[in-house]
Amino acid sequence: MKSNLKSWIPVNKNSDFPIQNLPFGIFSPPKEVIAKHDKAKDILPRVGVAIGDYVLDLLELKKTGVFNSLNFDTNAFAKSTLNDFIFLGKKTTNAVRARISKLLEERNPELRDDEKTRAKVLHKMSEVEMLLPLEIKDYTDFYSSMEHARNVGMMFRDPANALLPNWKHLPVGYHGRSSSIVVSGTNFHRPKGQMLQAAIVPAAAVGGLPLPPPPATVVFGPSKQLDFELEMAFVIGKETKLGESVTTKNAEEYIFGMMLFNDWSARDIQSWEYVPLGPFLGKNFCSSLSPWVVTMDALESFRIAGPKQEPEVLPYLQYSGNKNYDINLEVLINDTPVSKSNFKYMYWNICQQLAHHTVNGCNIRIGDLMASGTISGPTPESFGSMLELTWKGTKPIKMSDGSARKFMNDNDTVIMRGFSEKDGVRIGFGEVKGKVLPAI
Ligand code: MN
Repeated sequence: MKSNLKSWIPVNKNSDFPIQNLPFGIFSPPKEVIAKHDKAKDILPRVGVAIGDYVLDLLELKKTGVFNSLNFDTNAFAKSTLNDFIFLGKKTTNAVRARISKLLEERNPELRDDEKTRAKVLHKMSEVEMLLPLEIKDYTDFYSSMEHARNVGMMFRDPANALLPNWKHLPVGYHGRSSSIVVSGTNFHRPKGQMLQAAIVPAAAVGGLPLPPPPATVVFGPSKQLDFELEMAFVIGKETKLGESVTTKNAEEYIFGMMLFNDWSARDIQSWEYVPLGPFLGKNFCSSLSPWVVTMDALESFRIAGPKQEPEVLPYLQYSGNKNYDINLEVLINDTPVSKSNFKYMYWNICQQLAHHTVNGCNIRIGDLMASGTISGPTPESFGSMLELTWKGTKPIKMSDGSARKFMNDNDTVIMRGFSEKDGVRIGFGEVKGKVLPAI
């Protein structure tokens, strides 16, 4: 990473999007631009790149011929998802990023001094609408933070044997649902479902022995334990054929980039339904994704060693080099910070996740989304869900307005942010935000 590289576009020191980042997203341009062009095709969603407080419009930019020497199908910029662009392959997508970097570099007058073109290709980020960046094919959610798995095991099973016997031998995961994954800013209604309701314990008979607790009853209604899960997700950028496996060594070729991910969870629905086949309706009502896909190249300088894996894993899960990433993460409920964590805590890294996912010959497709599982760190303030932060609701969190939360209230907004920082360069993900509306 060239930390001394600067853009002629002013980039605030705390911006997530300096010239070293250049993440890709899908957006709709501002209405004024649409009105000016007055052609139906101009309102099409298109590929953009974030730079400071601006979005660079690649569909408009290609008309200037800046990508002509790269020799690829620029129709990929006129699509409502990044899938076709990702399909071009890393050689091309990296070349596009390199060309944009050159174009935005402070000494390059090409676009800097061309006011007319600049007005067409640069939009204020606050004026565009960001869309879901991917046509998400399959969605898999892992369970790769040891602290999270241990906390959940302590609460729901046996504190002395919190991790199940398989946990340190394989990256546990489940197949989720892609239809309900939404882009940041999309609000959703509190899910309803079936759950257990603890019966009210009757007062002991006067002078008598305490009565045994009555059994819980099965009820239906809005979830009372709606939670967030702080996660990161990566998108598959290269396909495999059925029967093929990806190794930990070549896994990075198949990973295009990363996003922030909030895997909303209804704990009361989840805890009643999950035995014996795992997560289902407690998970698939909504998950929120950040709009900018940060490329693995932009994250290169932030590699870091993962935790030592003991016992030693099977050969197909062994790896060499630094495969974890140092990404600071935070969660806010409304304006109250409730968690500060880091992606570096993951026990299983993304290469191991992908190697495990495909070791049986399961094929992967461009647009498949693989999420990390809740990212909890070693300290209580670094836990990545309300379930853990409030320890199953026993320690409510105080909000800045004086109220308290065990889980999410109606009209609460959860915001997650993430960034890496080194040598004065900050590579950020922006945010993923979602508001809980009352059940309908
Ligand atoms: Mn999850």
